[in-house]
Amino acid sequence: MSSLVRPLRIILLGAPGAGKGTQTTRLLKRFPKVQSLSTGDVLRSQIAAGTRIGKEASDHIKQGALIPDTTMVGLVMSQLEQLKWLDPKASWLLDGFPRTYKQAIALDHSLDQNDCRLNMVVELDVDQKVILDRIEARWVHVPSGRVYNIDYNPPKVPFKDDITGEPLTKRSDDTAEVFQRRLDQYNKEIEPIKKFYSNKGVLYKVSGDTSDIIYPKLEALVLEKFG
Ligand code: AMP
Repeated sequence: MSSLVRPLRIILLGAPGAGKGTQTTRLLKRFPKVQSLSTGDVLRSQIAAGTRIGKEASDHIKQGALIPDTTMVGLVMSQLEQLKWLDPKASWLLDGFPRTYKQAIALDHSLDQNDCRLNMVVELDVDQKVILDRIEARWVHVPSGRVYNIDYNPPKVPFKDDITGEPLTKRSDDTAEVFQRRLDQYNKEIEPIKKFYSNKGVLYKVSGDTSDIIYPKLEALVLEKFG
């Protein structure tokens, strides 16, 4: 079982519900030296803690809208510093950021200044009709960000997290109406982001309709380039 021979700085792109959280959990288990940050999880914990950012984010999230770029860029930049991810030796995965072209530019600029460029951006390509069909079956464990699907990837005990046994909850933005808005938003923003990374030669795509189909392809891709 080989591990990574050089630092991995990876971003997962993909429509909401494409399984970014699930793929992240599986990658981290396989490559324990990689750390991860999900901006959605950070925002949900800020909301739970009632912070200023949490208050600002709450309405946007409920409506399926994006949080303004200045807030998001500020939040992610301070997390990059706190987590010491600007050290070129660190290996990490960002899930849910960037979601706009402006965010992509800001991230690139900050990494560039610290001599640690992104070296892999993977688009999880899942049929959006399939995503819409299964979104109402999605349940989450908010403290850890672990994601389950009652039909495809059920918890061992119904509605309980596998690791902590704590109750799972539904996300308030996982209703059909709000979800469609989030998908529309994704489709509107993603092309310039993909073009930006494609020009840098770091963009890859893995396709499939379930996490079990996508994961082996993703792992093989990481091993091919970094194993
Ligand atoms: P997620 O868990 O990644 O689906 O994120 C949930 C929600 O948090 C999104 O629908 C947005 O409202 C907000 N959010 C997460 N990441 C970002 C980001 N990079 N930029 C703007 N809004 C974000």
